[in-house]
Amino acid sequence: MLQVNTIGKIYQNGTHALADITLQVEDGEILGIIGGSGCGKSTILRLISGLDRATQGTISVDGVTIVEPHPYIGLVFQEPRLLPWLSVSDNIGFGLNEPDNVLKKQRIDEALEKVGLSRYGTRWPKELSGGQAQRVALARALVTRPRVLLLDEPFSALDAFTRAELQEHVLDLWNESRPTLVLVTHDIEEALFLADRVAVMRPHPGRIAETFDIALPRRRDRTSPEFEEAKRNILRSLNTTLTSHKIAAQ
Ligand code: ADP
Ligand code: MG
Repeated sequence: MLQVNTIGKIYQNGTHALADITLQVEDGEILGIIGGSGCGKSTILRLISGLDRATQGTISVDGVTIVEPHPYIGLVFQEPRLLPWLSVSDNIGFGLNEPDNVLKKQRIDEALEKVGLSRYGTRWPKELSGGQAQRVALARALVTRPRVLLLDEPFSALDAFTRAELQEHVLDLWNESRPTLVLVTHDIEEALFLADRVAVMRPHPGRIAETFDIALPRRRDRTSPEFEEAKRNILRSLNTTLTSHKIAAQ
């Protein structure tokens, strides 16, 4: 289980990015975190991934406190962040600590296959489309077989069609090994399509305003009345958090 216990983050320049964030994500659960730009979504994921430290509170996975990056925790950023001078396979293997080269290649090929890019290992990043590059980024996160996978607006730079396709793909991948997933997005539909629970954030400092259980059976029909209703509820919550913030700022 992933536990985020009353964490706060104040950056060195004094920016109060997060306050009092408490989250519990069960093994195999998909948590969506939604909120406007600047409300601390990426900060939460960086803290969970161990890339940065909270100024208050603790984060643990299966009771182990996270103080640095861990192979059990994978992170996919908004942009693919591939190294242009390495092939697709080498990008995926870059952070994989496997001294046996045969095993390493097997792991890389397995990850490539998972994201549907089996024949792309020898390509260069610049030869990939945006959607393919983000699939490689996903493979790079999957190659360590993470138990917790963090996705930071992973599809927001892609066109609507590719985005929907990758959302389906993430669901397939999740179905195979059921990792715990934390998906940050500003796309309500994306959160609703994937998540068991959606946490709505409000900014300055970033807090969780409200959490919704999404009990709709999968695969979810984006056009069903139940889906539309859930969308309205989250939109209402987002609008409330924005309005109350504006009032507070006056
Ligand atoms: P989001 O991902 O929701 O857009 P972020 O987590 O990136 O939000 O940022 C939350 C707040 O923290 C913003 O006000 C942002 O300007 C600030 N911030 C993010 N990273 C840093 C940093 N390294 N140093 C100082 N302030 C930062
Ligand atoms: Mg962000």
